[in-house]
Amino acid sequence: MVESKLLNLQKQEQEQSGEKTGSDDFDSPWHALLEKNAVNIEDLEKNFKIDEKKLKEVISVYPMFVNSYYFSLIKEKSDAIYRQCIPSKEELHDNLEDDPLLEELQSPVPNLIHRYPDRVLFLISNKCAMYCRFCTRKRKVGKLFIIKRMDIERGIRYISEHKEIRDVILSGGDPLMLEDNELENIIKRIYAIQHIEIIRIGTRVPCTLPQRITPKLCSMLKKYHPLYINTHFNHPDEITDEAEDACNMLANAGIPLGNQTVLLKGINDKPEIMKKLVKKLLEIRVKPYYIYQCDMVKGVNQFRTSIETGLKIIKALRGFTSGMAVPHYVIDTPGGKIPLLPEYVVRKDKKKIILKDYKGNIYDYIECC
Ligand SMILES: *Cc1c(COP(=O)(O)O)cnc(C)c1O
Ligand code: SF4
Repeated sequence: MVESKLLNLQKQEQEQSGEKTGSDDFDSPWHALLEKNAVNIEDLEKNFKIDEKKLKEVISVYPMFVNSYYFSLIKEKSDAIYRQCIPSKEELHDNLEDDPLLEELQSPVPNLIHRYPDRVLFLISNKCAMYCRFCTRKRKVGKLFIIKRMDIERGIRYISEHKEIRDVILSGGDPLMLEDNELENIIKRIYAIQHIEIIRIGTRVPCTLPQRITPKLCSMLKKYHPLYINTHFNHPDEITDEAEDACNMLANAGIPLGNQTVLLKGINDKPEIMKKLVKKLLEIRVKPYYIYQCDMVKGVNQFRTSIETGLKIIKALRGFTSGMAVPHYVIDTPGGKIPLLPEYVVRKDKKKIILKDYKGNIYDYIECC
């Protein structure tokens, strides 16, 4: 298996050796879109009447960066896009903890979280195309979260020394904020490890900076199959023509695409909005994978909803639309993700189970033995 993976890679490299190689294209459009913060405090005060002093206070604790593409999606103050990227004073007023999922404690080497038996989460980038106000890694992202070359080396060594790991999830920050060659250097080495069966990338870029998905990136990524990407759309307004193009390019490179949504108060906590989102995701060839209950993380309390809200959303999806569109609704804990389901079992006894369908009709299922 490993031999064939490597042979395959060599073959593809030979095929490509005729193509243009070498340096990253620093004047590609995505670099330009990231060049400067699309918002500054004076604009916010002028356009959206935000209190400058309070804003500065928030930004000094949790930095703000929005690229000009994502910023252009804002239609009005406090819409779903605005609330995801523009700071609010509530960020400084809660008693929650920075790292309730104990990620730091579960990192045997810096920036590598080994929580589950056969897979690890490997943080390889400290940057994002924007800083989401609800980020679960708000304690690190955009702050003094530096990933040293040494940390990457130690992470790769840890993975190669632990044969039980078969699945590596690259995360951050956003791994696609690395240059193509930096990213490839990491992926290539993980791919070459004998016991690694699949690589996954967790990235918000198809949503927040779709211009980052280029033909060059796709032709690099497709050398490392089976490679999966889980992206992160939270609202139907994020599914633009640009996002659709980005997802199509990735899908055409043979990369299966999943989506992880965070359930966010005032943004996507209504069944109609979620239904529209999951249907549009399937149209752009992205399979809804998870809806996360918003974590109990310091600075994001204003986005938390009740659990009942999440269950109502799942109830409104299951049966009413394609099963393919229905994600797992999960709460993350230091022990892992825990799925929650609306109640479909009315009663269960030794011989039979009484079930309720999505319309509320009751059915019996008799056990075979
Ligand atoms: C979410 C997560 C994973 C991956 O979980 P899957 O259910 O396999 O997608 C792995 N490690 C950590 C620490 C995670 O938070
Ligand atoms: S892109 Fe992901 S890691 Fe970066 S700020 Fe947003 S949620 Fe956090």
